[in-house]
Amino acid sequence: MNAAMERTDRPEADRPLVMKFGGTSVGSAQRMKDVAVLARVNAQNGVLVVVSAMSGVTDSLFRAARLAFEGNLEAAYALCEDLRAKHYETHRELSPGDGSAAEFAYIDTIIDALKERLHGVALLRELSPRSMDAIASSGELLSGQLVARAIGCRYIDARTLMKTDSRFGEARPDMEAIKAAVKEQVAPLMKPWEIVVTQGYIGSDQENATTTLGRGGSDFSASIFGAALGAREIQIWTDVEGILTCDPRIVPNAKTVEVLGYFEAAELAAFGAKVLHPATVKPALDAGIPVTVRNTMKPEGKYSTIKPGKSSGRPVVALAMRKNVSIISVKQEDMTDQYGFLAKLFKVFGDAEVSVDLISTSEISVSISLDSSSPLAKLKKELQKLGTVDILPGRVVIAVVGDLLKRTPAVLNKVFTVLEQIEVDLVSLGANSVNLSFIVKQEDAEFAMKKLHEIFF
Ligand code: ASP
Ligand code: MG
Repeated sequence: MNAAMERTDRPEADRPLVMKFGGTSVGSAQRMKDVAVLARVNAQNGVLVVVSAMSGVTDSLFRAARLAFEGNLEAAYALCEDLRAKHYETHRELSPGDGSAAEFAYIDTIIDALKERLHGVALLRELSPRSMDAIASSGELLSGQLVARAIGCRYIDARTLMKTDSRFGEARPDMEAIKAAVKEQVAPLMKPWEIVVTQGYIGSDQENATTTLGRGGSDFSASIFGAALGAREIQIWTDVEGILTCDPRIVPNAKTVEVLGYFEAAELAAFGAKVLHPATVKPALDAGIPVTVRNTMKPEGKYSTIKPGKSSGRPVVALAMRKNVSIISVKQEDMTDQYGFLAKLFKVFGDAEVSVDLISTSEISVSISLDSSSPLAKLKKELQKLGTVDILPGRVVIAVVGDLLKRTPAVLNKVFTVLEQIEVDLVSLGANSVNLSFIVKQEDAEFAMKKLHEIFF
């Protein structure tokens, strides 16, 4: 049975909500109290709250693991004690109890187990992905219980819900098992004004060993839980007002993109725009559930909706750029009538394990853009066997993202009005028609971005 069919047993308006809160949104007792308020006012059909570790905690855990691996157990332990103190303090601020040791027992259990793990790592001087996951899960184990305390609601250890394979460090969810677990443990609790807290990022494999979905994985968790639950919406609560039309460091008056589709979100993410990784929202969108990106600091403010479907239907939704790009062009005077040239050319990149970006070909030359960190000299040496090679470093790729085919001539006109004023090395319309990219010199990039933003937004 597919998710869309399952959902019909509960009318859309009555379906529960999944609310995911990232590290900053649960970064202190006060923020956790804010989370509690947000969850309560949205709980008319039940809410599943999915939390990250408190901000900075996962980083500390990775650092501790490294220190232990290097044999510096003392420093690793010191980090653990910092974490203990941080979570004690948060607990105290949330619920000033009698101060007895019993009150903090759940924190001690997690920190003590963590120290024991680190001890093992230091002894063996071995840090397997499996140990790393057990260590890294501590942050979410702590924050999950604290947020449940702040809300005063039930807490379910995500490891009983997020069943995965055993690729530690990048475990892949077992959708069928997760659906079954969510149906059994979470769905019955999704009644009006009921809230349940669980964690993102962590899971467990068939043997119940702790796994993680990889750094930043809690958005993915939320999306998976939402799909399994047939949620009405998945809200990703973070510290920005949704997805912006442009990097605000370049264009200070960048606006919130109100609606975008999967392909558009994917393109923006590929360009390093500060959005969710597209793969993280896919389970939700595939199940027909919209994902919104909202700001915990401004809950009533603007937000972005990534709606099910490939694109927004709007000609331009956002701009993005990526620096440190180089262009390699290979000229072959008598490429006419030659076959196999492109195959040979791409084999060079394939053999060097370099992924290429934009490609443009003419009768006698091929230009390819790639990250400047690629082994350019080595590539050049190989490519010279095929023709004359030129390398243009210090380039920037700019992408205009949107449902471009909706109004292609108008979009192209506007883009070329801007480009008229600067020199462009390469232009390419992405095959899925939601990305028009072009490459300019580093020094022209900001000007081009500002101009484009002015024209489109
Ligand atoms: N706490 C994990 C991390 O920092 C997962 C997440 O926040 O998404 O990577
Ligand atoms: Mg995150």
